[in-house]
Amino acid sequence: MMTTLDMTIFEELESNVRGYCRAWPTVFDSASGAWLRDEEGRDYLDFFAGAGALNYGHNNPVLKQALVDYIMADGITHGLDMSTVAKRRLLETIQRTILAPRDLDYKVQFPGPTGANAVEAALKLARKVTGRTTILNFTNAFHGMTLGALAVTGNAAKRAGAGVPLLHATPMPYDGYLPDADEDPFLWMETILDDASSGVDKPAAVIVETVQGEGGVNIARPEWLRSLAHLCAAREILLIVDDVQMGCGRTGPFFSFEAADITPDIVTLSKSIGGYGLPMALVLMKPELDQWAPGEHNGTFRGNNPAFVTAQVALDHYWSDTLLAASTMAKGELVHRNLIELSSAYPGLSTRGRGLVHGLVFEEPSQAGKVCQVAFEHGLLTETSGACDEVVKLLPPLTITDSELEHGLGILAESVATVCDGVLK
Ligand SMILES: *Cc1c(COP(=O)(O)O)cnc(C)c1O
Repeated sequence: MMTTLDMTIFEELESNVRGYCRAWPTVFDSASGAWLRDEEGRDYLDFFAGAGALNYGHNNPVLKQALVDYIMADGITHGLDMSTVAKRRLLETIQRTILAPRDLDYKVQFPGPTGANAVEAALKLARKVTGRTTILNFTNAFHGMTLGALAVTGNAAKRAGAGVPLLHATPMPYDGYLPDADEDPFLWMETILDDASSGVDKPAAVIVETVQGEGGVNIARPEWLRSLAHLCAAREILLIVDDVQMGCGRTGPFFSFEAADITPDIVTLSKSIGGYGLPMALVLMKPELDQWAPGEHNGTFRGNNPAFVTAQVALDHYWSDTLLAASTMAKGELVHRNLIELSSAYPGLSTRGRGLVHGLVFEEPSQAGKVCQVAFEHGLLTETSGACDEVVKLLPPLTITDSELEHGLGILAESVATVCDGVLK
């Protein structure tokens, strides 16, 4: 304890590309549940949860035990796409806990172990199956940092990093993007799709997030998603739901699209699917779309078997019943009530959320970053999101206790008071 904070090696050796460590200038050492500890022994409550990769908390004891047992028994660690006992157990568990109870008929693909790789696979497959090239995406979308995924991502700074033109994607207004969109939100989209001379080629697929996490906690209404699904089905355009961040129970149910009662053609999962924070991703596709040739989408780390073990145990433990989904909704209510109170106490503040993803939206964007900074100083990790980083995004582990939630919300309220009462201005 009480070492002096030494950032030298990070500043001297690590690339300038590093990001989160700038917002949280300390050196983390250990973590448990909803808490991280730095090397000086300071504790931080985690309302970030690995950007949604730690829905079951840090070093979840149930998953940790299974992982340790597997490693100590010399279970397969690296497996490419070879059949393994761990993968069989996982597939059987996906079938039993996730697909069968929801009457979902999907084939399961193991792409490379990142969200971006799952998105690349989904886009490639949609293009292959339809023989078309264009993808319709949405304003403020985020789908990952590789070229195909960046092409369907909105953020200007991230797109600029590509260094080549980002092609074959056409952005459409997300729910709520246009001020008067309630009238007929798909008027523009339907009109251009049904006009052969609109200049928009018939797309292979539409890719959508049901809640845009990186884009600023923008929420698509269930009826908007249903209209989108109908619109796609009527024109034989594939619907891809990118559930990399909002899946695995973040919004309550396992899949974020369940609330809208739609069945996407293709679903991407990553972040919390591995359960323990280990890299893993899945692409789910309707069986008739599984037109891949063997090895056509490849990757060395598709067989991260330790992640299969923790994924399987997480599904068994948390998704064999509806308890986690129900508690996520209840905890979400608690957060919502707090944020409503907070946003009505200060001008220029509003809130939106679903399940355990919530945003505190600042009319003055710079205040959001300041709130995160003050919160960090008081032991709470939160990050900003949105086009202008104007939203404080709250993404606590789903396994957080009510008293931990209230503790964090208390720090948040103090931080807002500090910033909005002008102390930091
Ligand atoms: C994080 C994220 C991705 C990219 O996942 P990586 O593992 O960072 O490549 C894709 N889509 C959504 C919705 C995400 O939140």
